[in-house]
Amino acid sequence: MRIVIVGGGIIGAALADRLARPGTAEVTLVERDRPGAGTSGASYAWLNANDPADARYHAFRVAALDAWRRVAAEFGGPDWARFAGGTEWAVAEPARDALAERVARLRDLGYPATLTTATRLRDDEPALRPPAGAVIARFPGEGHAHGSAAVGALLARARDAGAAVRSGTPATGLLVRGDRVTGVRTPAGDLAADTVVCAAGWRSPALLATAGAALPLVDPEAPGSSAPGLTAAITPGAGPVRGPVHTPGLDLRPVPGGGLLLEAADLDAATDLATPRADLDARGAELLDRARVLFPDLDARVDRVRRCVRPLPVDGRPLVGPQRPGLYTVVTHSGITLAPHLADLAAGEILGEGAEPALAPYRPDRPPPPPRRP
Ligand SMILES: Cc1cc2nc3c(=O)[nH]c(=O)nc-3n(C[C@H](O)[C@H](O)[C@H](O)COP(=O)(O)OP(=O)(O)OC[C@H]3O[C@@H](n4cnc5c(N)ncnc54)[C@H](O)[C@@H]3O)c2cc1C
Repeated sequence: MRIVIVGGGIIGAALADRLARPGTAEVTLVERDRPGAGTSGASYAWLNANDPADARYHAFRVAALDAWRRVAAEFGGPDWARFAGGTEWAVAEPARDALAERVARLRDLGYPATLTTATRLRDDEPALRPPAGAVIARFPGEGHAHGSAAVGALLARARDAGAAVRSGTPATGLLVRGDRVTGVRTPAGDLAADTVVCAAGWRSPALLATAGAALPLVDPEAPGSSAPGLTAAITPGAGPVRGPVHTPGLDLRPVPGGGLLLEAADLDAATDLATPRADLDARGAELLDRARVLFPDLDARVDRVRRCVRPLPVDGRPLVGPQRPGLYTVVTHSGITLAPHLADLAAGEILGEGAEPALAPYRPDRPPPPPRRP
């Protein structure tokens, strides 16, 4: 079976890793830039199931954390996928009450979540000093990945299993015969496939449109769109935290080899596709200033400020499944958390092993969500 995967982000890499099976599937992955160059390489990449609002989706994400633990074990505990636990604190109301309530609801769902004290927190995160009076939560089962390194490792294993990875190769369109997708068009020539897998992240709608297929993603170009975001990498001598940390005004997590990745909800929300580079850099400097408030001795500089675009389904849930004969789509928000689990589930469907019940709620052609009440 010939499979062409379009997109070398975390989703395409996890799929290539699961699908490359000598004697069963002949896998080619095409990437317009280089693997990991898209959203996955800039993502905050917190591995979590920290939202209790939708119990079914919460359970799906818990299964995804198990899939990540398995991948991390297979690779011998790499520094690009760590489970050191997550930390969050809140200082003002209503955030304090909301955090305590979320911890209680997550515990009811069986998710490891606990309220703790600044003193006890030092056992897990010795460098952190939450302000007096903060409500502090620990989520011991959570982790973080580092997207570009994870993509590199998964694709290296896929190559070892026989997959071909073509960088600098955009799929400029889908080849269609009747109602069937038969391959992709690239500047280097057509690639025939029994199944094309669209894992092109936020650019997926443009590719799918060439076969008349649509995907309900938030438009990143709309003014004020929530799809574009911002992260900054800083390089101190040694990383002061072990896992993801969420504080009022700053989220941070370690970067392999030393350093931190920073993001903040307000600066992220203020970023769109038209934000000039000078403003992005100013936001990177602001993130570093906020990190210095947390760590007054931090000796660091901003390495890289990146605008990145969420492939954001309008209802926030994954979009996974066949869209035409010969065409299978895997596009999602929280793609770093979900990638290995989605790849495990989707691989069987792509290889013709039957429909996977766990994916039933997440089909791309499901009805749109009802309009929100004002
Ligand atoms: C600021 C921010 C913070 C986030 N934080 C988290 C988090 O904490 N936890 C979490 O789980 N998720 C998080 N996410 C979401 C997560 O990063 C994404 O869901 C995930 O990276 C998407 O992976 P992907 O492989 O689908 O897309 P991408 O990584 O964008 O990969 C798609 C690839 O396809 C390529 N491509 C596109 N079109 C074509 C074409 N026509 N031909 C060939 N190649 C093509 C692109 O170049 C790209 O490399 C965050 C996202 C953002 C923006």
